[in-house]
Amino acid sequence: MTTSIAGLHHVTAIASDPQRNLDFYTNVLGLRFVKRTINFDDPGTYHFYFGDDTGTPGTILTFFPWPGARRGRPGAGEISATAFSIPAGSVEFWKARLRANGLTFTQHLRFNANVLAFQDPDGMSLELVEHTQMHAGTAPRYSDVPAEYAIQGFFGVTLLLHSLEHSAALLEVMGMKQIGQEGNRTRFAPEGEAFGRFLDIVVDARAPHAASGAGSVHHIAFRTPDDASQAAWRKILGPHANVTTVQDRTYFRSIYFREPGGVLYEIATDIPGFLIDEPVESLGEALRIPEWYEPRRRDIEAAVVPITLHKTAPEVTK
Ligand code: ZN
Repeated sequence: MTTSIAGLHHVTAIASDPQRNLDFYTNVLGLRFVKRTINFDDPGTYHFYFGDDTGTPGTILTFFPWPGARRGRPGAGEISATAFSIPAGSVEFWKARLRANGLTFTQHLRFNANVLAFQDPDGMSLELVEHTQMHAGTAPRYSDVPAEYAIQGFFGVTLLLHSLEHSAALLEVMGMKQIGQEGNRTRFAPEGEAFGRFLDIVVDARAPHAASGAGSVHHIAFRTPDDASQAAWRKILGPHANVTTVQDRTYFRSIYFREPGGVLYEIATDIPGFLIDEPVESLGEALRIPEWYEPRRRDIEAAVVPITLHKTAPEVTK
């Protein structure tokens, strides 16, 4: 049993218009649409998964796109930014690409790394961090972003909190160590190489409480290899947090708990993964629903809004 969380498994956020969400993450950021499924707790709505070519844990950004969802209000007790890694030397490419797509961004240095900060169409705060010691992913096959510039999974996330102490203590229980500080930003990371290793806590005691809505991160999930290691984490965390029972999410199994600052955490298994119900060539192309909803497939298909996946790769025309 490892005594440390390796890094993020996925980040789940709320969106409004499904087609706009799909177009932004595939056509602008060049991620692969890894899975088109439904919100298991609200089966008339989608759950979208974007990631690298095969949906490797640590590369997966997921959305609940609720048509017409109201925007959230940023504030304390939530993830204030979600950051992807981009390869060294790709900042100019990404600046040009963001501009070409009509996006405004800011550029700054943080812990000596280039950061481009911008928002998605729902106002979700995103960052691209130029990463020199990157854990490399597999570039999506359907993307016009050249593989050498492609997003390489998550860099990490930033939490905006009212105070540091208790949240930091829980991260220590999870094997994350404090590795740096810049102003009111404290950085935590586990040892080893993995996607999404970096967790920054920014403290602002006077920030208003966040209100969840479109553009808000719903929760972040850390990864664990299998059910046995997940059960061990459940035990370790038991004295420190109110941890749920195991939930079957088809592509992984999950436990959830709220950290002291208010952010919802999940620990998700790497298994069984996104190739369990469709071949790698056609990931995301058809609506996949869990077995227990199959008898309701026609109603579900009628309830979700139709979407079109545009595959923009040179590979498509081969
Ligand atoms: Zn999740």
